Amino acid sequence: MSAVITGELARATAPCITSSFQAECVVLTHMLLEEKPDIPVLFLDTVHHFAQTYTYRDELAAAWKMNLVNLRAAEPRPGLWQESTDKCCALHKVGPLFSALEQYDVWFTALRREQSPSRANLQEVERFRLPSGKVIQRVSPLAAWTTRDVWKYAKDHAIPLLPLYDVGYTSIGCEPCTTPHSGCQVNPSAVTYHRDTETPRNF
Ligand code: SF4
Repeated sequence: MSAVITGELARATAPCITSSFQAECVVLTHMLLEEKPDIPVLFLDTVHHFAQTYTYRDELAAAWKMNLVNLRAAEPRPGLWQESTDKCCALHKVGPLFSALEQYDVWFTALRREQSPSRANLQEVERFRLPSGKVIQRVSPLAAWTTRDVWKYAKDHAIPLLPLYDVGYTSIGCEPCTTPHSGCQVNPSAVTYHRDTETPRNF
């Protein structure tokens, strides 16, 4: 077990993890559930996920008895990405996430340094300021992990992964903004929120 996980859970009053149910997210969730079975697992339901993602989320959540918390915009607008990907991400991701995080003091994420150049300096433990001004602890225990590490952990622990990996997707987010075989989650028109902000792609 990671010392970071143990230490941060011990100091937390209200911990949570955000999960998009991609491989690294379920690996980290698996690790956290061993120490804190009732930790809230926050899933950002952007209303644009693949049907397979929703099915996988529900099956894994039931099998692992997760305390799953689905986050949604108060008034979702399916298809907004066609008008503006920035507006779509702001409405369906950024707003619900930051609003939900107000309730927590330690936020676990499955972010990894190798995911993008903007994450090269990612620390395992960082202070994170919410738009309200509240500062919480963002904890990324897998910061130094490679993709190989993630897949090895999943294999060693017999963790079933999202079936979309089997058909060529290497990173899986919203269906309109995800392309297979590219090694990149988003199409160019949807790239802003994923690469240029502090908002991690894999919620
Ligand atoms: S990733 Fe695409 S579909 Fe998902 S919220 Fe952002 S713009 Fe909308």
